[in-house]
Amino acid sequence: MGQARFVDFHCHLDLYPDLEEAIAACDRAQVFTLAVTTTPRAWERNHLLASKSRYVRAALGLHPQLVRERAREITLWKEYLPTARYVGEVGLDAGPRFIGSLDEQKRVFDLVLRECARAGGKILSVHSVRSSKIVLDMIEKHLAGSSCRVVLHWFTGSGSEARRAADLGCYFSINHEMLKKQRSKAIVAQLPVDRLLTETDGPFTMTAQRPSRPDDVCRALAALADLRGEHHDALARTLICNLRRLLAQVDAA
Ligand code: MN
Repeated sequence: MGQARFVDFHCHLDLYPDLEEAIAACDRAQVFTLAVTTTPRAWERNHLLASKSRYVRAALGLHPQLVRERAREITLWKEYLPTARYVGEVGLDAGPRFIGSLDEQKRVFDLVLRECARAGGKILSVHSVRSSKIVLDMIEKHLAGSSCRVVLHWFTGSGSEARRAADLGCYFSINHEMLKKQRSKAIVAQLPVDRLLTETDGPFTMTAQRPSRPDDVCRALAALADLRGEHHDALARTLICNLRRLLAQVDAA
């Protein structure tokens, strides 16, 4: 991870016009970036290009919003798993547009967690829209006592669910959109500082009327520092420490 200055633990780099240039920009700005994917078909190219980068790592995903059309690709996901250290975007989405496929999503996510637990040493970026409780139940069932770690991406559960997630060993990647909402701010303010990471979820969030880029993660960092009454540079160092600890926890296994 070189001398990373910032952390963008959830960004869809392959949805920008030029993946190679998007990776080069992360390297120039020294932003440790987790390049999540939405289908295992995207894995090989993301993995190949990220493997030449100092700051970008690719994650093997099957996005819950795509499960209705692509559940069969779980076979491909499973084939690639031995080559992946990072897994994502995976999880559940029980929002109105995707609740129709929730049973199928659960089946896929169950298999993802089971396979990760069996392999060990994986770091997962997990989506949990309107499904925090089920997602935590499934993480507890499959990953308790395993050497895998979960980073909850754009977590919107309750305060007590956030505490439960922390007790289960989860980390949280926080983006600047989350910090515009009062309810979310109150929950993020209470998260344990040693579990915090930042993300952009680009290009699905906007910065200055354009899709966010990984170096825009400094906005999330600034908003998080304000919210928690911490100095910007000190929090930046804490987040890098958190990232190193997370990687070490999985490596030590
Ligand atoms: Mn995403």
